[in-house]
Amino acid sequence: MAGIGYNQRDEPICASRQHDGDRLPPRVAAGRQLCIRCRNQVEENLVELPALYELCAHMLDMRHHIREQAGDHGARGTELTDTVVAIRSDILGVLASWCGLVTGERGVTGPDELSIRRLTSFLAIHLSWLTEHTAAPDFADELAELASTARDVLRHDIEPRGSMFEPASRRET
Ligand SMILES: [Zn+2]
Repeated sequence: MAGIGYNQRDEPICASRQHDGDRLPPRVAAGRQLCIRCRNQVEENLVELPALYELCAHMLDMRHHIREQAGDHGARGTELTDTVVAIRSDILGVLASWCGLVTGERGVTGPDELSIRRLTSFLAIHLSWLTEHTAAPDFADELAELASTARDVLRHDIEPRGSMFEPASRRET
């Protein structure tokens, strides 16, 4: 058999989509389904998602307030508002479904309320178990996608107002 050797070893490779396009996706430690980088990313996303979730809520409040002040009851901005509402609901839904997998398969009691912090803390507690689960790559990918969608939406809201940090190249000198 031809080849340079790496892929002929028995260690499984990390199946997360984060490595799409990598010629040699990282291998995973015995018993795990995620590489160290993806595991760290999951940990970061579990910390970041509650903050993003709350920033999205803040953004909805602000938009509601601005529209009321302006007497604007039209459709402008509705699309963005809908997107923010949808991403918040996706975040809760996806996290809750992973909590469901843990409670179902481990026979443990899940979070007692559908709150973002309860859900993420619960998943953080069971993170080691999750990284050994065959569905771990999906778990990592779904969290990464939620965080990235939320970041994009928040960025989209900030940009139209203009940045205070104008690139030096555009400044008059
Ligand atoms: Zn990985």
